Amino acid sequence: MRRKIVAGNWKMNGSKDLVSNLVGQVRSELASFDNGVEAVIIPPALFVGDVVEQAGEKLAVGVQNVACWGSGAYTGEVSAAMAKDCGCGFTLVGHSERRQLFGETDEQVAAKVGQALASGLVAVICVGETLEERSAGKAEDVVSLQVRKAVADVGSESWQQVVIAYEPVWAIGTGKTATADDAQAMHAAIRDVLKSLGAPADEISLLYGGSVKADNAAALFAQPDIDGGLIGGASLDANDFVSICRAVPGKS
Ligand code: PEP
Repeated sequence: MRRKIVAGNWKMNGSKDLVSNLVGQVRSELASFDNGVEAVIIPPALFVGDVVEQAGEKLAVGVQNVACWGSGAYTGEVSAAMAKDCGCGFTLVGHSERRQLFGETDEQVAAKVGQALASGLVAVICVGETLEERSAGKAEDVVSLQVRKAVADVGSESWQQVVIAYEPVWAIGTGKTATADDAQAMHAAIRDVLKSLGAPADEISLLYGGSVKADNAAALFAQPDIDGGLIGGASLDANDFVSICRAVPGKS
């Protein structure tokens, strides 16, 4: 049985006030149902300590990025080991905003995955094609290559710490979302890539991200290869985030 995960990426949004208001509400509402979802809050790194303090047992915490290195003279960077030490269980790696705005390369993504796994974090590896790549019929090739490069150095003992988030770049923060059929097709293709690499693909959770909202989450999460979501804008509203968590098909 694969882990069902809904992770809220706050990006560079939020404040101590938002942490106090949102985390408590999400925590208490999560306690009112049990569909097996693992909810994760991924705030800006400065707020990780506050979120961890208020999260309780049913809510996990992650960081949005980690360094390619373990420690040293890398001013401004935060290591995977530090995130783990501060109570995080997850990190995003290779979010399209990091790739596009900060020039993060596939090689850096692979190095960050290595740091995350070595530190005991779950690496949520983000992949996805641009609109130009989709229009040119290259979406599957682009995503497949991103996956292959990101997991190139993953050892057989670490696959259980790998999660892939398929996030078409044209769907992030735009209000446009892939149809459930298109998203399912790409998730199935990603699972095939993982199989071809010898990974235990049927045990690896694959998330969809890109303008997931309370009203489209259920259709996406009902797809056989979609095991949850990576949520941006809608994760900044407790009601919306909890509704998306509830949309994971499960025990109740
Ligand atoms: C994201 O930041 O990963 C994301 C999917 O954002 P949004 O839900 O706002 O499109």
